Amino acid sequence: MINEQPRIALNDGNSIPQLGFGVWQVPNESAPAVVGQALKVGYRSIDTAQGYENETGVGEAIRASGLPREELFITTKLRNGLQGYDSALKAFDQSMERLGLEKLDLFLIHWPMPSANLYAETWKAFVRLQKEGRVASIGVSNFNEDHLERIVGETGVVPAVNQIELHPAFQQRRLVAFNAARGIATESWSPLGRGQFFGHPVFAKIAAKHGATTAQAIIRWHLDQGFVVIPKSVTPARIAENFNVFGFALDAEDRAAIAALDDPKGRVGPDPASFDVRF
Ligand code: NAD
Repeated sequence: MINEQPRIALNDGNSIPQLGFGVWQVPNESAPAVVGQALKVGYRSIDTAQGYENETGVGEAIRASGLPREELFITTKLRNGLQGYDSALKAFDQSMERLGLEKLDLFLIHWPMPSANLYAETWKAFVRLQKEGRVASIGVSNFNEDHLERIVGETGVVPAVNQIELHPAFQQRRLVAFNAARGIATESWSPLGRGQFFGHPVFAKIAAKHGATTAQAIIRWHLDQGFVVIPKSVTPARIAENFNVFGFALDAEDRAAIAALDDPKGRVGPDPASFDVRF
């Protein structure tokens, strides 16, 4: 049931649906139909970004759904090339125009891009946007411990969320523990590990045991760990499949088998310490 969807409490008093829908690589022209499908099967949280160039299509889907605004949780992220205090404020306004929203639920700094040395100044703009009531929650993405320490040190404001690459082959236990110790919710991106577990014997066994699919078993793992999770698909049947994960639970044997898949070199995306593409 949609109303029974689990939510994760954030450190600022707000809460986020634990299972959301990611829209990276969903073309703007397909976004109304794809996001519309996700909203139809029950997702209420949508994860987009300025860099995905589909905020307009996401906004269209939101309006077409007819759902009350308060039922929805919309996240977008600041482009790397638009970091900086004034630039972030202006970019926020432009996102809101594209999305057609008065208020955003969550705004994230997409990458720290440490070589530009602008993320702390950018965070100050985020703090202002939150104080002004333009955005309910502010957070970061791809921040390591040192980046988090710096923004908290300079502003005293702890991000509500750190959205990081996280899947069974790259479990990031140290950063997850660091987030938890500071009350920062961990949100998993590329939660399915971009397809590498389909056909994997560990997941074939777990899926068969629970009458689930591999994707459902992986999403269940994220939920059981307390992560916010945002799988993506453009295929209607898979969009529905990935949401149908509330009727079973993994057991200790499953958790141990998945824990053993962790690999410090298991990243599928860029390393945040060096990634500095100004998309
Ligand atoms: P994902 O792990 O969600 O995998 C998506 C791919 O897996 C799909 O394209 C599809 O090919 C396949 N798939 C999905 N459901 C399936 C199913 N039921 N059966 C079989 N195959 C299935 O990867 P992702 O899109 O990289 O990540 C999810 C979301 O995370 C993105 O859409 C985006 O919102 C977010 N993200 C954020 C960052 C960041 O830097 N903050 C980076 C990457 C992704």
